[in-house]
Amino acid sequence: MARIVKKFGGTSLGDMERMRQVARKIAESITMGDQVVVVVSAMAGMTDHLDDLCQKAVRKCNLQEYDVVMSAGEQISAGLMAILLSDMGIKAKSWLGWQIPITTDDAHGQARIKDVAARLLITDLEQGIVPVIAGYQGVDETGRVSTLGRGGSDLTAVAVAAAIKADRCDIYTDVPGVYSDDPRQVSSARKLPEISYDEMLEKASRGARVLNLAAIELARDLKIPLQVLSSFEQKTGTMVGPDAS
Ligand code: ASP
Ligand code: MG
Repeated sequence: MARIVKKFGGTSLGDMERMRQVARKIAESITMGDQVVVVVSAMAGMTDHLDDLCQKAVRKCNLQEYDVVMSAGEQISAGLMAILLSDMGIKAKSWLGWQIPITTDDAHGQARIKDVAARLLITDLEQGIVPVIAGYQGVDETGRVSTLGRGGSDLTAVAVAAAIKADRCDIYTDVPGVYSDDPRQVSSARKLPEISYDEMLEKASRGARVLNLAAIELARDLKIPLQVLSSFEQKTGTMVGPDAS
């Protein structure tokens, strides 16, 4: 039995059929005997839409209220995923950042995680319940909702994996893994079975968008093995870990 954090990005949750596919994937993993904690992003396009609403409201938003609006997409995904899993006979429960709590500093819009309380998540796992966590959000020390910067759900996944001492953190996306070169530009690009944290950081800083940069740094610092894989295929992806050499 492995304890795994599984994070699903926006395109994996693009519509209800895709969400159902994701729920089936989670159910399969549970049936195989794994302990799974799920982290979800907002459905595709949702966060951009919320950002748009804020821009339309006033020229310059109060950042604390901006975070209240921007964090809403993940709440919807977490609730829907828990509903879909329950419908498949899997016990599941949604969690928002403030409920866990995932405590952050007060840099609203770009907050840093200070602590993830593992207690409620571990209790769920012990009771055979799948916790479904809204990514990208936390709560500052005065109780205000915060967000972690765009693409921040990856960061939630890594921080949660560290807190619950997970064996691995799977980052599900719309590509099969990490490639040697950009497959849209280089026809000989191949999928890598593994890559080191540092090489992955280099790719991300050169513009590869497959993983959030801060999340790779956090995984390296906390020694969390990552796997980048497609939510649309049954194949293994690319393992991101310490340098083998
Ligand atoms: N929904 C947020 C965004 O679009 C966070 C994430 O997807 O990781 O940036
Ligand atoms: Mg992302």
